[in-house]
Amino acid sequence: MQSSFDVSLVVLSVLVAALASYTVLDLSSRIVSMRDGRRRTAWLLGGALAMGAGIWSMHFIGMLAFSLPIHVAYDPWITMTSLGLAVGVSYFALHVMARPELRYRRLLGSALLMAAGICGMHYTGMAAMRMLPGIEYRPGLVLLSILIAVVASVAALSAARCLNKASARGLLPKRVAVACVMAVAITGMHYTGMAAARFPPGSICGVVHGLSTQGLVLPVTLVVVLLLIMTLLSSWMDASNQRLEGSVDQLSGQMVRLAALDMLTELPNRRTLMEGIERIIQAEGAQQEPFAVLFMDLDGFKAINDSLGHAAGDEVLKAFAMRLQQCVRKSDMVARLGGDEFVVVIHQLRSVEAVTRIVESMLARMREGNWRDGVSLQVIPSVGIALYPQDGESVDVLLKNADIAMYEAKRAGRGTYRFFDWSMNQAATRILKIQQGLHEATTHGWFKLHYQPKFSADGRRLQGAEALLRYTHPELGVISPQEFIGIAERSGLIVQIGEWVVREACRQLRSWQLQDIGPLKLAINLSPRQLIQPDLLQGVLEIVKQEAVEPAWLMFEITETVAMQDAAHTVETIHAFQQAGFDVAIDDFGTGYSSLAYLQRFRVRQLKIDGFFTQGLDAAGEEGEAIVSAIIALAHSLGMDVVAEGVETATQLEKLKSLQCDQIQGYLLGRPMPAEAFAEKIEGWLAVA
Ligand code: C2E
Ligand code: CA
Ligand code: CA
Repeated sequence: MQSSFDVSLVVLSVLVAALASYTVLDLSSRIVSMRDGRRRTAWLLGGALAMGAGIWSMHFIGMLAFSLPIHVAYDPWITMTSLGLAVGVSYFALHVMARPELRYRRLLGSALLMAAGICGMHYTGMAAMRMLPGIEYRPGLVLLSILIAVVASVAALSAARCLNKASARGLLPKRVAVACVMAVAITGMHYTGMAAARFPPGSICGVVHGLSTQGLVLPVTLVVVLLLIMTLLSSWMDASNQRLEGSVDQLSGQMVRLAALDMLTELPNRRTLMEGIERIIQAEGAQQEPFAVLFMDLDGFKAINDSLGHAAGDEVLKAFAMRLQQCVRKSDMVARLGGDEFVVVIHQLRSVEAVTRIVESMLARMREGNWRDGVSLQVIPSVGIALYPQDGESVDVLLKNADIAMYEAKRAGRGTYRFFDWSMNQAATRILKIQQGLHEATTHGWFKLHYQPKFSADGRRLQGAEALLRYTHPELGVISPQEFIGIAERSGLIVQIGEWVVREACRQLRSWQLQDIGPLKLAINLSPRQLIQPDLLQGVLEIVKQEAVEPAWLMFEITETVAMQDAAHTVETIHAFQQAGFDVAIDDFGTGYSSLAYLQRFRVRQLKIDGFFTQGLDAAGEEGEAIVSAIIALAHSLGMDVVAEGVETATQLEKLKSLQCDQIQGYLLGRPMPAEAFAEKIEGWLAVA
């Protein structure tokens, strides 16, 4: 029997197959990432239905494209079976494709099963015509059609596997291409299967009340195409919902992280730390296992931050956080409280000695500086340690006491550690009171300047005076600069206080000048914090102008240690001050580690030898004298005057004189005194000359 093909219907069948293939590729890639089991099943079922209908209608159109010269109808039950097979195959295909990992063995097995399903569907569909006599098949072509089905299945599954792993970019064209290949394979199989069929002459269709193809093709195709498109659309919508849900998830995850972690170092933050300690107290309290809270604060961090900028400061904090974690056990908690404050909780403590060992080895490693993080940094923490339960039974008390101990460690000389001791509490309260008082000291007149004279080496002629700050606390009384300058420095208050000092010194100087008391050159101390203020000189110049004092009457003292910390910057500052007409002195010389190269570049007016060396003239015998002699020679060779501080005895004065020291400052010749007392004496001192 002669049969013929309708080309437009063939093309339509390929298009439908392509759409169905695209749908399955799209769905499988989405189903892969679905975690929710119910949603996954729903999508598998819906997708299988749409795709099965697609393949099946392709088959249906294909049958129609193939027209026999006799009337053909289809047995509804057998047709339904073939549709069922199509849906089943689709479900299976989707299920296999949507597996995250598909090994080759499994892929091959699945492809064979799929191929069997496709062939089954096709040949059942053919059987639905119930031809009399039965259709004869050419075995070669049947085999070929089966082969095509297998190859198509393998290709489809491996393509889906690759596409699922591929990145989202450029996925659409790839998917379309794969879908087209799949469509050609599927329809190819179909038409090969059709070609394999031979209808003997005189065959008739045995179906009397069946589905006739003629009027059905268009509506069925339309419905199926719509079904596929709707499946695709809802799959896309579901995906974008999912993405939205995903980003909401991510956001809330981020918020949880934000609330629990310190964003800079990614360490637990204060809140998480407190909760963590609370948990340890709850858990270990029952067994009375002690643990230690280590409170640390980086020495010199503020200077880094102020001079090198916040970005550099952040890098230092991050590097420090990393190092800290490397120094403790994984099970110990490391947290950042903010700023340069870190806390480590060491639990399951065997003994107090164990903490000592841990802290000492930590500090030693920090000092060593053999780190792989590429940041060379000089910051070492001061550590305060509070032990549970003896130093506190609650989180708050433990943290507070560890903080107090840390403060003691700082006072003891930085880069070291202290265990909390209840006697420290009083010290801490005192520090707090002093600091609070400093806030109001300028407005309440609790600050005063005292003036200490500086004499020529013979101890007779007045050469100038140094302004020294005095602070009388309303409750604690007179507080020595040794105590409060450090507190003002750490809290940053020193900047305002320093400004007050400059203004007050200028005011006093001007007032003396107006009363014809003098002439007098006044020295003012600058603190490290002040020195790194970018607008320091500008501020000083403003004050000087307002108070109508000539810069030439002022000298600024910078301690050697501070000058050397960032020597390059100090050189600039010193030169800027000198350009503006001020004199500069290096204070406490001999206590820091000067480099001769920089001393040369500083080119300051005066070098003030620390009182320690002056005492050494009496106590250290010849060696003491040799040191002072060397310093004086060095200073003179660099064109600087030398001032010896802390001169208390006549022998010291004599020795200094014989060593060619230029100026003398000390209790022997004049203690620091209030302005009025100084003014009374100044006439006498000047009269000597
Ligand atoms: P400094 O700049 O080295 O000041 C000299 C210190 O030695 C003063 O201590 C002074 O009273 C003391 N002194 C003077 N002669 C003798 C002596 O013969 N024997 C002994 N044992 N000591 C003597 P003071 O006034 O207690 O000040 C201590 C430190 O506080 C100062 O050391 C300075 O570094 C700082 N300081 C004082 N006033 C200010 C200020 O206005 N601003 C800043 N930034 N620091 C200040
Ligand atoms: Ca000084
Ligand atoms: Ca000094």
